[in-house]
Amino acid sequence: MTWLSAAVRIGTLLAACASVGWYYGRPLVAVACALAGLVLLWLYQMYRVQQWLREPGKPPPEIYGIWSDLLSQIYQLQKRGREDRARLQSTVDYLEDSFASMRDGVAIVDDHGGLKWFNESAQRLLGLRQSDRGQSLMNLLRNPEFLRYFNRGDYSQPLQYAMGGDSGAWHRVEITRFGDGDRLLFIRDVTAEVRMEKVRKDFVANVSHELRTPLTVISGYLGTFLSDTSRLEPRYIKPLQQMLQQAVRMENLLKDLLLLSRIESEQGLQPHGVVDISALLAELQDELRTAHPGRRVELAVDPHAGHTVCGDYRELYSAVSNLVLNAIKYSAADSTVTVSWHRDGANCVLEVRDQGIGIDRRHLPRLTERFYRVEDSRASSTGGTGLGLAIVKHVAASHGARLEISSELGKGSVFSLVFGPQTQVAATAGKASAAPAG
Ligand code: ADP
Repeated sequence: MTWLSAAVRIGTLLAACASVGWYYGRPLVAVACALAGLVLLWLYQMYRVQQWLREPGKPPPEIYGIWSDLLSQIYQLQKRGREDRARLQSTVDYLEDSFASMRDGVAIVDDHGGLKWFNESAQRLLGLRQSDRGQSLMNLLRNPEFLRYFNRGDYSQPLQYAMGGDSGAWHRVEITRFGDGDRLLFIRDVTAEVRMEKVRKDFVANVSHELRTPLTVISGYLGTFLSDTSRLEPRYIKPLQQMLQQAVRMENLLKDLLLLSRIESEQGLQPHGVVDISALLAELQDELRTAHPGRRVELAVDPHAGHTVCGDYRELYSAVSNLVLNAIKYSAADSTVTVSWHRDGANCVLEVRDQGIGIDRRHLPRLTERFYRVEDSRASSTGGTGLGLAIVKHVAASHGARLEISSELGKGSVFSLVFGPQTQVAATAGKASAAPAG
């Protein structure tokens, strides 16, 4: 029934009452009685509607007229709302069930750090109890590395950390923000992976170490033979020279492998020293003058950029010299290599720029992989080990810096070590070490 037909009905009723009243000489009294009756009827129906609304889920009462339409519409809306709620609840149950059955730990933390929800795996991995729901995660977990990561708020990279204690367990945590500042934590036990990786690194380090002595003996004898070629049969000279060249190459390879495994084994430990970058560059320039007397290497140190960073002198020296030696190797003998230290916003940048052969863009993402070479033939003619940039990347990571590479084929390359504010040291913070610590 529409409002129009309801109005027509009421109008008809009032007109009928008015005619009867007019017949008896009291039309107004009749209309007033009809209106009063109508109001009483509506009040009664409103009372029934109110009673019905108090008991959700019950079918609407039998009511006459426009009220019946209203009630059935409200009833339909309620029914649809209940169905939607049930559907949502079943989705939430389904998600909770799937999270609960995951082998990875999952936890939801609100914007104040309170634990809202966690699954059984998170309970086991983090040592939580069911009663910890609602408690602050900061009070429940004590691992300083985890807390630092959690509070820093930069979750672009996952965190891998040792649990400490006798267990030797390692966890990896990934955090994602959602909703109103809530955080979703995924925690995985990576102990087995870390152990395997350690076995692999130890193996490489041990093999490299064991091979060093025999190689030193071989290259030593070869060097002795070649020191006086007049006493050698001429047909042996070239093969012996090639043998020495390859032995030296292998020695360099082992040296780089050992350095790489040392840096890797120290990964995660913050280097403690303070390194004076201008002293480091000055020493490097001295060495280059001796090793590459014909090459032009320009130094440009911005006096307004702080000169010191937190780190290990030997490692940083090795990283920068790798970049500069590459720049020399992969550019023409008469071109200039520029090494600069300057400020870029909050960062300090050590930049090595050459005007050499450059690198095609498609190689850039893989350039820092071990033994990755742009072209085998080209690299072998340079005598490189293919480990130089892997070392640079690891040194950068262990110093909280990052390696950026830009290059244009045929024009040259720029390799930059970008040191964030946390790695820079105020000039007065400590005495800078200008020479290797040991
Ligand atoms: P390598 O010992 O072979 O130089 P690196 O790890 O230092 O190994 O470098 C990897 C590869 O990156 C090199 O083989 C070379 O092809 C390329 N490369 C590195 N530096 C430069 C540069 N300054 N200009 C052009 N190519 C470069």
